[in-house]
This record gives sequence, C-alpha cells and structure tokens, in this order.
Amino acid sequence: MKKINIAIDGPSAAGKGTIADNLAEKLGYIHLDTGAMYRCVALACIRENVPLKDEDKVMEVIKEVEIDQTADGRSFLDGEDVSDEIRLPEVSKGASDVSTLRAVRKDLVRRQKHMAKRKGFILDGRDIGTVVLKNAELKIYLTASVEVRAMRRYKQNLEKGIECDYEEIARQISERDYQDIHRKESPLMKAEDAVEVDTSDLSIEEVTGKVYELAMERIAGVNE
Ligand code: C5P
Repeated sequence: MKKINIAIDGPSAAGKGTIADNLAEKLGYIHLDTGAMYRCVALACIRENVPLKDEDKVMEVIKEVEIDQTADGRSFLDGEDVSDEIRLPEVSKGASDVSTLRAVRKDLVRRQKHMAKRKGFILDGRDIGTVVLKNAELKIYLTASVEVRAMRRYKQNLEKGIECDYEEIARQISERDYQDIHRKESPLMKAEDAVEVDTSDLSIEEVTGKVYELAMERIAGVNE
C-alpha cells in the first residue's frame, strides 16, 4: 500500500498537534511537529540571552545546538527533554519571534524537508502546505475562533495544574495570530489546494474522523 504525506496548517491552538497525533496513530504514520522546532530554537536563545530578533546571533545558536524529536512526540535540545518547557508562554512568544527570521526559516525548512523525504509523514505548522510539503497529497487548514482556541488552551492548562487567566491567553493567541499572518517570510496562509476545517463547533473525535476520511480517500487515490 503506497503512503501519502499530509500537511496540517492553521493558527495557534487550533488543535493541529492533537489531530496530527490521532491521525498518525490511526494510519501508522510519523507526526513531525514543526512548531516544536521553532520553540526549541527560541528556548535555546532565551537560555543564552540572545535577542530573539537578531538573525545573526540566533543563527549562531542554531548551529551550536542539536534539536531532535522522537516518534512519541518528545522534543530534545542537546539531548535534554524540553517538551514541557517549550510550552511556556514566553517560549511561545519567542518561537513566533524567531520564526519571522528568514535564515532561521530556511534552516528549519531544509531540515523538515529532509526528514519528510519519504512518504508516510504528517507535518503540522504554518507553512507546510505552502512551502515545506508543497506536493503533499492532502493539505488541511484547521481553524477555530480565537474564543474557542483560548478556552481550549485555558482548560488544558487547568488540567495540567497550570494557573492561568482566560483573557490573557486570548490576548496572547491574538497577538501570535497577528504576527504569524503579517510577517514577511512565509506568513500563515491557507494553501490554494487545502481543505479548510473549522473546528469551533466540533469535538476532537469529530475532527479526527473528518480528516481521517479525507486521508483514506487520498490514499485510495494513489493506490488505484
Ligand atoms: O505550532 P506552534 O504554536 O507550536 O508554533 C510556535 C510558533 O512557531 C508559531 O507561533 C509560529 O510563529 C512558528 N511556526 C512557524 N512555522 C511553522 C510552525 C511554527 O512559523 N511551520
């Protein structure tokens, strides 16, 4: 059975990671979380006190550090498991900052393309359908209103025992949306051939089912 590649793009907290994980499990594919790579770069810079919008300095950091992601979705920076730390608000904002830099994007996109050279990959991010996997057989653009996304993040945090404020989360999400949509380099954009799925009124199971159906259709297509 021939495999396909799947691109999932969309704004922060739209559920891309969860849907990509579920789909990877159902299909036996590998999920690569490209946002985690930008987050690892941001964390490395924060730790070394490197200004997040100084392209040359950030590139020096990228050259020095090793970024890995395991099949079970954990992220490693120089061998240290930083999966939880990269989700902190200042790292989220930092990831959005470093992701505006052209040289940073070029470097990470090259790595992502290399990792997903073969078929059987699901990549989630902002520029997967438009830049990284332009030839993906299935492209999904996941959206949801700011209010719904902020509420989901708020509940997730509470479940993890992280104290937080709903209004503050909504503000941070709007700020990242703005920066991701308006940046010069590969702004967040729906690819022309992407299928848009608004998840505002759907459960995780419903979205997974919908995307799985689309994937099975495309897989059947390449195996005709
Ligand atoms: O998806 P996640 O929220 O983890 O991504 C963190 C940040 O990394 C995003 O706000 C975005 O600015 C950036 N990013 C990107 N391109 C990607 C994935 C993430 O610019 N492919």
